[in-house]
Amino acid sequence: MTRRRQIYEGKAKILYEGPEPGTIIQYFKDDATAFNAEKKGTINGKGVINNRISEHVFSRLSHIGIPTHFIRRLNMREQLVRQCEIVPIEVVVRNVAAGSITKRLGIEEGEQLPHTLIEYYYKDDALGDPLIAEEHIACFGWASNEEMQDISSMAIRINDFMCGMFAAIDVRLVDFKLEFGRIYDGDFSRVILADEISPDGCRLWDMNTGEKLDKDRFRRDLGGEEEAYREVARRLGLLQGEDNGPGEVLDLSSHRNKLRGSANPPKK
Ligand code: UDP
Repeated sequence: MTRRRQIYEGKAKILYEGPEPGTIIQYFKDDATAFNAEKKGTINGKGVINNRISEHVFSRLSHIGIPTHFIRRLNMREQLVRQCEIVPIEVVVRNVAAGSITKRLGIEEGEQLPHTLIEYYYKDDALGDPLIAEEHIACFGWASNEEMQDISSMAIRINDFMCGMFAAIDVRLVDFKLEFGRIYDGDFSRVILADEISPDGCRLWDMNTGEKLDKDRFRRDLGGEEEAYREVARRLGLLQGEDNGPGEVLDLSSHRNKLRGSANPPKK
């Protein structure tokens, strides 16, 4: 057996050369990082769950006409995707105030925003992914105006779709991060959705209890992160044949006091 070539190792994934030109294998790790990798840890089984959730979300999005890099899931931790040139911008979509916006603008966590906000961050670990304006994107040539039109309209469609998808399983989609890539076809290029969509890059709150079902459990040392990630997969119907039999309910009660006591999250 020949050893496949590793292209890149990120915080939560490893990329390998795919079986055909123009393809890449994304391997999902259990590693978790927060606060620009100042905090490191592992969430057991996270890679398996995120691979599955991301497959589900990307497949559903392609059914509504969003072009994505996803081709197919290969096994528990790997998926085959189209190789693309990553646009160096993190697109954050917010429906409810949480995380950095609460600190930056002094807005209370949980406040419903008057309308959906799209923010852009420049992807640069050394700079700590700074918030940028669209003018910076055009000025420094990170993406063309045409590409930004496509990116912002896709982000809104993705948000509308995902809000509905999660509301159907009693989950509130607070905010999430998207990444896009460029693929070339002769002299033309177009942008497609890339990376992953999973509880690592989304804030997901239980609609009834407000319980956090995402990476904030890890960021804020709330505990129960494995259970929370599994719960999202279970509600999406992705754990069939495993343990989503009738009667199983999420019990994060042992973590709940900690959760309540965390009204003041640690400063970045
Ligand atoms: N996010 C992400 N990767 C990043 C930064 C943010 O996936 O490098 C996600 C994060 O999980 C949240 C949303 O984008 O769902 C908004 O994050 P925020 O700006 O509030 O930053 P945070 O306080 O989470 O670092």
